Amino acid sequence: MGRVLLYYSAWQEGKFQCQHCGCSGNVGFADLDYSSNPASIIECPKCYGSLAVVEFPNMKDTQKAAAQGNAEAVTAPLGFNQRVNHTWRLLERFEQKKILAWISCRNWEENHWSSLGISPKYRTVSITRPSG
Ligand SMILES: [Zn+2]
Repeated sequence: MGRVLLYYSAWQEGKFQCQHCGCSGNVGFADLDYSSNPASIIECPKCYGSLAVVEFPNMKDTQKAAAQGNAEAVTAPLGFNQRVNHTWRLLERFEQKKILAWISCRNWEENHWSSLGISPKYRTVSITRPSG
């Protein structure tokens, strides 16, 4: 497992060297796997070994980065909110099963963290109900 990088930490501007095959190069936002949450492994384009883990931002990270003028962050909040709201709409549709859904959400989240091999101190993203 490679380094854990924050989404807005300009990781895409640095150069990576693959520990597995030795090749080096740049990676970018296009190399992230957005279907997985809350983090994406960046794979070596040559041997598919993992180079690093990029942790997706929570709302606070995004607001902070946006305040610092990060272009990605400035355009991100809408998409992020939509994703959160979409998740909650899905849960609301199964009102009577909400508690079960919540438990399975938490279990899924926990399993996912474990499968990524991310230590508890990096587990900053969690599912919380948006207010309002
Ligand atoms: Zn490699």
